[in-house]
Amino acid sequence: MILRFEPYQLQLKHPFRLATGTRTSTSTVQVHIELNGLVGYGEASMPPYLGETIESVTAFLSKLKPKNWQIENLAGILQEIDSLSEKDNAAKAAIDIALHDLKAKMLGVPTRELFGIIASQTPPTAMTIGMGSEAELRQKVAEAEDFKLLKIKLGGADDKYKIDFLRSITDKPFLVDANQGWTDVEVALKMIDHLSLLNVLMVEQPMPFSTSAKTWKTLKEKSSLPIFADESVKRLSDLENASELFHGVNIKLMKSTGLAEANAMLNRCEQLGLQTMIGCMTESSCAIMAAAQLAPRANFVDLDGPFLISNNPFEEPQLINGCIQLNTFSGNGAIPF
Ligand code: MG
Repeated sequence: MILRFEPYQLQLKHPFRLATGTRTSTSTVQVHIELNGLVGYGEASMPPYLGETIESVTAFLSKLKPKNWQIENLAGILQEIDSLSEKDNAAKAAIDIALHDLKAKMLGVPTRELFGIIASQTPPTAMTIGMGSEAELRQKVAEAEDFKLLKIKLGGADDKYKIDFLRSITDKPFLVDANQGWTDVEVALKMIDHLSLLNVLMVEQPMPFSTSAKTWKTLKEKSSLPIFADESVKRLSDLENASELFHGVNIKLMKSTGLAEANAMLNRCEQLGLQTMIGCMTESSCAIMAAAQLAPRANFVDLDGPFLISNNPFEEPQLINGCIQLNTFSGNGAIPF
Protein backbone atom coordinates (compact mmCIF):
# COMPACT_ATOMS: atom_id res chain seq x y z
CA MET A 1 0.00 0.00 0.00
CA ILE A 2 1.07 3.57 -0.62
CA LEU A 3 0.40 6.16 2.09
CA ARG A 4 0.32 9.89 1.30
CA PHE A 5 -0.63 12.74 3.61
CA GLU A 6 -0.73 16.52 3.63
CA PRO A 7 -1.82 19.26 6.05
CA TYR A 8 -5.05 21.10 5.27
CA GLN A 9 -6.56 24.00 7.21
CA LEU A 10 -10.36 23.88 7.53
CA GLN A 11 -11.75 27.44 7.59
CA LEU A 12 -14.76 28.00 9.86
CA LYS A 13 -17.76 29.93 8.51
CA HIS A 14 -18.15 31.59 11.93
CA PRO A 15 -15.46 32.04 14.60
CA PHE A 16 -15.88 29.16 17.03
CA ARG A 17 -16.40 30.59 20.53
CA LEU A 18 -16.40 28.06 23.33
CA ALA A 19 -16.07 28.22 27.08
CA THR A 20 -12.37 27.42 26.44
CA GLY A 21 -11.54 30.04 23.73
CA THR A 22 -12.13 31.25 20.14
CA ARG A 23 -10.72 30.08 16.81
CA THR A 24 -11.34 30.64 13.07
CA SER A 25 -9.81 27.50 11.59
CA THR A 26 -8.90 23.92 12.52
CA SER A 27 -5.79 22.04 11.40
CA THR A 28 -6.24 18.68 9.71
CA VAL A 29 -4.03 16.19 7.94
CA GLN A 30 -5.63 14.55 4.90
CA VAL A 31 -4.56 10.95 4.25
CA HIS A 32 -4.68 8.86 1.06
CA ILE A 33 -3.94 5.14 1.07
CA GLU A 34 -3.67 3.56 -2.36
CA LEU A 35 -3.78 -0.08 -3.42
CA ASN A 36 -4.31 -1.46 -6.93
CA GLY A 37 -5.70 1.83 -8.24
CA LEU A 38 -8.22 2.25 -5.40
CA VAL A 39 -7.85 5.11 -2.89
CA GLY A 40 -9.03 5.17 0.72
CA TYR A 41 -9.48 8.65 2.19
CA GLY A 42 -8.78 9.52 5.82
CA GLU A 43 -8.54 12.63 7.95
CA ALA A 44 -7.05 13.67 11.28
CA SER A 45 -8.64 16.75 12.82
CA MET A 46 -6.74 18.54 15.58
CA PRO A 47 -8.70 21.01 17.72
CA PRO A 48 -5.92 22.54 19.86
CA TYR A 49 -7.25 21.37 23.24
CA LEU A 50 -6.59 17.71 22.33
CA GLY A 51 -2.86 18.31 22.07
CA GLU A 52 -2.21 16.95 18.58
CA THR A 53 -0.68 19.18 15.89
CA ILE A 54 0.24 18.97 12.21
CA GLU A 55 3.80 18.25 13.38
CA SER A 56 2.82 15.43 15.75
CA VAL A 57 0.46 13.79 13.23
CA THR A 58 3.00 14.07 10.41
CA ALA A 59 5.73 12.62 12.63
CA PHE A 60 3.46 9.70 13.61
CA LEU A 61 2.41 8.94 10.03
CA SER A 62 6.05 9.10 8.86
CA LYS A 63 6.91 6.22 11.21
CA LEU A 64 4.43 3.82 9.56
CA LYS A 65 5.42 1.05 7.14
CA PRO A 66 2.44 0.69 4.77
CA LYS A 67 4.40 -1.53 2.37
CA ASN A 68 4.05 -4.37 4.88
CA TRP A 69 0.30 -3.93 5.42
CA GLN A 70 -2.17 -6.60 4.25
CA ILE A 71 -5.69 -5.18 3.96
CA GLU A 72 -7.14 -8.64 4.81
CA ASN A 73 -5.59 -8.16 8.23
CA LEU A 74 -7.09 -4.74 8.97
CA ALA A 75 -7.56 -5.47 12.68
CA GLY A 76 -3.90 -6.51 12.94
CA ILE A 77 -2.69 -3.34 11.21
CA LEU A 78 -4.75 -1.15 13.54
CA GLN A 79 -3.49 -3.01 16.60
CA GLU A 80 0.10 -2.60 15.50
CA ILE A 81 -0.38 1.14 14.86
CA ASP A 82 -2.08 1.61 18.23
CA SER A 83 0.85 -0.05 19.99
CA LEU A 84 3.27 2.59 18.63
CA SER A 85 2.22 5.27 21.13
CA GLU A 86 -0.08 6.07 24.04
CA LYS A 87 -1.50 9.17 22.28
CA ASP A 88 -1.86 10.29 18.63
CA ASN A 89 -5.56 9.33 18.57
CA ALA A 90 -6.42 11.58 15.59
CA ALA A 91 -3.42 10.33 13.58
CA LYS A 92 -4.51 6.75 14.27
CA ALA A 93 -8.09 7.65 13.32
CA ALA A 94 -6.94 9.01 9.94
CA ILE A 95 -5.36 5.66 9.09
CA ASP A 96 -8.35 3.67 10.41
CA ILE A 97 -10.78 5.79 8.34
CA ALA A 98 -8.70 5.47 5.14
CA LEU A 99 -8.19 1.71 5.55
CA HIS A 100 -11.90 1.06 6.15
CA ASP A 101 -12.72 3.17 3.08
CA LEU A 102 -10.19 1.20 1.03
CA LYS A 103 -11.28 -2.21 2.29
CA ALA A 104 -14.97 -1.49 1.66
CA LYS A 105 -14.15 -0.23 -1.84
CA MET A 106 -12.21 -3.42 -2.55
CA LEU A 107 -15.17 -5.51 -1.37
CA GLY A 108 -17.64 -3.27 -3.25
CA VAL A 109 -19.80 -2.51 -0.18
CA PRO A 110 -20.62 0.58 1.91
CA THR A 111 -18.32 0.60 4.94
CA ARG A 112 -21.18 0.15 7.43
CA GLU A 113 -21.68 -3.39 6.09
CA LEU A 114 -18.23 -4.31 7.46
CA PHE A 115 -19.83 -3.64 10.87
CA GLY A 116 -23.04 -5.52 10.10
CA ILE A 117 -25.06 -2.32 9.76
CA ILE A 118 -27.70 -2.54 7.04
CA ALA A 119 -29.75 0.62 7.73
CA SER A 120 -29.22 3.46 5.27
CA GLN A 121 -30.88 6.04 7.52
CA THR A 122 -29.24 7.90 10.42
CA PRO A 123 -31.07 9.68 13.23
CA PRO A 124 -31.35 13.47 12.59
CA THR A 125 -28.04 15.25 13.04
CA ALA A 126 -27.80 18.21 15.39
CA MET A 127 -26.45 21.53 14.10
CA THR A 128 -24.28 23.50 16.51
CA ILE A 129 -25.31 26.98 17.56
CA GLY A 130 -22.14 28.54 19.05
CA MET A 131 -21.97 31.49 21.38
CA GLY A 132 -22.73 34.98 20.05
CA SER A 133 -24.82 38.13 20.22
CA GLU A 134 -28.60 38.03 19.77
CA ALA A 135 -28.22 39.01 16.11
CA GLU A 136 -25.60 36.27 15.57
CA LEU A 137 -27.76 33.67 17.31
CA ARG A 138 -30.74 34.65 15.16
CA GLN A 139 -28.60 34.32 12.03
CA LYS A 140 -27.22 30.92 13.09
CA VAL A 141 -30.70 29.56 13.83
CA ALA A 142 -31.87 30.79 10.41
CA GLU A 143 -28.86 29.14 8.72
CA ALA A 144 -29.74 25.85 10.49
CA GLU A 145 -33.11 25.77 8.71
CA ASP A 146 -32.48 22.29 7.23
CA PHE A 147 -31.75 20.72 10.62
CA LYS A 148 -34.41 19.30 12.97
CA LEU A 149 -32.26 19.40 16.10
CA LEU A 150 -29.97 22.13 17.46
CA LYS A 151 -26.95 21.73 19.72
CA ILE A 152 -26.55 24.74 21.95
CA LYS A 153 -23.13 25.57 23.36
CA LEU A 154 -23.39 26.86 26.92
CA GLY A 155 -20.88 27.18 29.73
CA GLY A 156 -20.52 30.97 29.66
CA ALA A 157 -21.66 33.74 31.96
CA ASP A 158 -25.02 34.37 30.28
CA ASP A 159 -26.29 30.81 29.82
CA LYS A 160 -29.81 31.37 31.12
CA TYR A 161 -30.28 34.48 29.04
CA LYS A 162 -28.95 32.75 25.93
CA ILE A 163 -31.05 29.59 26.22
CA ASP A 164 -34.20 31.57 27.01
CA PHE A 165 -33.57 33.78 23.98
CA LEU A 166 -33.00 30.77 21.69
CA ARG A 167 -36.14 29.08 23.01
CA SER A 168 -38.09 32.22 22.14
CA ILE A 169 -37.00 32.14 18.47
CA THR A 170 -37.31 28.41 17.59
CA ASP A 171 -39.42 25.39 18.58
CA LYS A 172 -36.80 22.79 17.57
CA PRO A 173 -35.57 20.41 20.28
CA PHE A 174 -32.18 21.27 21.77
CA LEU A 175 -29.15 19.31 22.89
CA VAL A 176 -26.97 21.32 25.29
CA ASP A 177 -23.17 21.10 25.44
CA ALA A 178 -21.70 22.97 28.41
CA ASN A 179 -18.13 22.04 27.34
CA GLN A 180 -16.98 21.60 30.98
CA GLY A 181 -18.20 25.12 31.73
CA TRP A 182 -20.02 24.63 35.05
CA THR A 183 -17.77 24.08 38.04
CA ASP A 184 -20.29 23.95 40.90
CA VAL A 185 -22.60 20.94 41.07
CA GLU A 186 -25.48 22.87 42.63
CA VAL A 187 -25.26 25.56 39.94
CA ALA A 188 -25.18 22.83 37.28
CA LEU A 189 -28.25 21.08 38.74
CA LYS A 190 -30.17 24.33 38.91
CA MET A 191 -29.35 25.10 35.28
CA ILE A 192 -30.30 21.55 34.22
CA ASP A 193 -33.66 21.89 36.01
CA HIS A 194 -34.27 25.05 34.02
CA LEU A 195 -33.22 23.35 30.75
CA SER A 196 -35.59 20.45 31.44
CA LEU A 197 -38.51 22.86 31.01
CA LEU A 198 -37.26 24.02 27.59
CA ASN A 199 -37.42 20.87 25.40
CA VAL A 200 -33.74 20.07 25.96
CA LEU A 201 -33.11 16.34 25.38
CA MET A 202 -29.72 15.90 27.07
CA VAL A 203 -26.75 17.78 28.55
CA GLU A 204 -23.19 17.07 27.44
CA GLN A 205 -20.13 17.40 29.68
CA PRO A 206 -21.65 19.91 32.13
CA MET A 207 -18.59 19.86 34.38
CA PRO A 208 -14.80 19.65 33.87
CA PHE A 209 -12.87 16.51 33.01
CA SER A 210 -11.22 16.79 36.45
CA THR A 211 -14.54 16.51 38.35
CA SER A 212 -14.45 13.74 40.98
CA ALA A 213 -16.37 10.49 40.54
CA LYS A 214 -18.36 11.34 43.66
CA THR A 215 -19.57 14.63 42.15
CA TRP A 216 -20.46 12.99 38.82
CA LYS A 217 -22.50 10.39 40.72
CA THR A 218 -24.39 13.10 42.58
CA LEU A 219 -25.04 14.94 39.33
CA LYS A 220 -26.22 11.79 37.57
CA GLU A 221 -28.52 10.84 40.44
CA LYS A 222 -30.15 14.27 40.79
CA SER A 223 -30.17 15.47 37.20
CA SER A 224 -33.55 15.91 35.54
CA LEU A 225 -31.93 15.36 32.11
CA PRO A 226 -29.57 12.65 30.77
CA ILE A 227 -25.91 13.56 31.31
CA PHE A 228 -23.49 12.62 28.50
CA ALA A 229 -19.70 12.44 28.77
CA ASP A 230 -17.59 13.98 26.03
CA GLU A 231 -14.16 15.09 27.30
CA SER A 232 -14.41 12.52 30.15
CA VAL A 233 -14.57 9.50 27.84
CA LYS A 234 -12.24 9.05 24.90
CA ARG A 235 -11.62 5.34 24.33
CA LEU A 236 -13.05 1.92 25.06
CA SER A 237 -11.06 1.58 28.27
CA ASP A 238 -12.69 4.77 29.64
CA LEU A 239 -16.14 3.14 29.52
CA GLU A 240 -15.69 0.75 32.42
CA ASN A 241 -16.76 3.18 35.14
CA ALA A 242 -18.76 5.44 32.87
CA SER A 243 -22.17 3.88 33.48
CA GLU A 244 -21.95 4.80 37.18
CA LEU A 245 -21.17 8.43 36.36
CA PHE A 246 -23.10 9.21 33.17
CA HIS A 247 -26.28 8.28 31.32
CA GLY A 248 -24.58 8.36 27.95
CA VAL A 249 -21.36 8.92 26.00
CA ASN A 250 -20.42 11.05 22.99
CA ILE A 251 -18.26 8.81 20.78
CA LYS A 252 -16.01 10.59 18.27
CA LEU A 253 -13.60 9.01 15.79
CA MET A 254 -10.83 11.51 16.67
CA LYS A 255 -10.98 10.43 20.32
CA SER A 256 -11.55 6.70 19.80
CA THR A 257 -8.74 6.22 17.20
CA GLY A 258 -11.27 5.47 14.48
CA LEU A 259 -14.18 3.33 13.34
CA ALA A 260 -13.04 -0.03 14.71
CA GLU A 261 -12.81 1.18 18.31
CA ALA A 262 -15.88 3.46 18.00
CA ASN A 263 -17.87 0.39 16.96
CA ALA A 264 -16.46 -1.57 19.90
CA MET A 265 -17.51 1.34 22.15
CA LEU A 266 -21.07 1.18 20.77
CA ASN A 267 -21.12 -2.53 21.63
CA ARG A 268 -19.82 -1.93 25.16
CA CYS A 269 -22.25 0.95 25.75
CA GLU A 270 -25.09 -1.36 24.81
CA GLN A 271 -23.89 -3.94 27.35
CA LEU A 272 -23.47 -1.28 30.05
CA GLY A 273 -26.84 0.36 29.40
CA LEU A 274 -25.24 3.64 28.31
CA GLN A 275 -26.93 5.84 25.72
CA THR A 276 -24.77 6.94 22.80
CA MET A 277 -24.10 9.88 20.55
CA ILE A 278 -21.90 9.84 17.45
CA GLY A 279 -20.21 13.25 17.45
CA CYS A 280 -17.35 15.05 15.73
CA MET A 281 -14.67 17.72 15.87
CA THR A 282 -14.36 20.28 13.08
CA GLU A 283 -14.09 17.74 10.26
CA SER A 284 -14.65 17.68 6.52
CA SER A 285 -17.01 15.21 4.85
CA CYS A 286 -14.12 12.73 4.85
CA ALA A 287 -14.25 11.88 8.57
CA ILE A 288 -17.94 12.79 8.89
CA MET A 289 -19.14 10.33 6.25
CA ALA A 290 -17.00 7.68 7.97
CA ALA A 291 -18.61 8.42 11.35
CA ALA A 292 -22.04 8.46 9.70
CA GLN A 293 -21.52 4.78 8.83
CA LEU A 294 -21.96 3.98 12.54
CA ALA A 295 -24.65 6.60 13.19
CA PRO A 296 -27.65 4.28 12.63
CA ARG A 297 -26.64 2.57 15.91
CA ALA A 298 -26.57 5.75 18.03
CA ASN A 299 -29.31 7.44 20.08
CA PHE A 300 -28.11 10.89 19.00
CA VAL A 301 -26.06 12.15 16.07
CA ASP A 302 -24.00 15.33 15.98
CA LEU A 303 -22.16 15.30 12.66
CA ASP A 304 -22.36 18.94 11.63
CA GLY A 305 -18.63 19.46 10.89
CA PRO A 306 -18.90 19.92 7.09
CA PHE A 307 -21.74 22.44 7.48
CA LEU A 308 -19.58 24.69 9.67
CA ILE A 309 -16.66 25.06 7.24
CA SER A 310 -16.22 27.05 4.01
CA ASN A 311 -13.51 24.99 2.22
CA ASN A 312 -14.61 21.35 2.43
CA PRO A 313 -12.31 19.33 0.14
CA PHE A 314 -15.11 16.74 -0.28
CA GLU A 315 -18.73 17.05 -1.38
CA GLU A 316 -21.08 18.20 1.36
CA PRO A 317 -23.21 15.39 2.89
CA GLN A 318 -26.79 15.29 1.66
CA LEU A 319 -29.50 15.98 4.20
CA ILE A 320 -33.05 14.69 3.93
CA ASN A 321 -35.40 15.73 6.74
CA GLY A 322 -32.35 16.71 8.77
CA CYS A 323 -30.76 13.24 8.43
CA ILE A 324 -27.43 12.59 6.68
CA GLN A 325 -27.99 10.28 3.73
CA LEU A 326 -25.63 7.33 3.69
CA ASN A 327 -23.96 6.22 0.48
CA THR A 328 -25.30 3.29 -1.52
CA PHE A 329 -21.94 3.00 -3.32
CA SER A 330 -18.84 1.38 -1.79
CA GLY A 331 -16.60 2.87 0.90
CA ASN A 332 -17.23 5.59 3.49
CA GLY A 333 -19.14 7.81 1.06
CA ALA A 334 -16.80 10.83 0.91
CA ILE A 335 -16.40 12.13 -2.66
CA PRO A 336 -13.40 14.42 -3.25
CA PHE A 337 -13.90 17.51 -5.44
MG1 MG B 1 -18.80 18.33 23.42
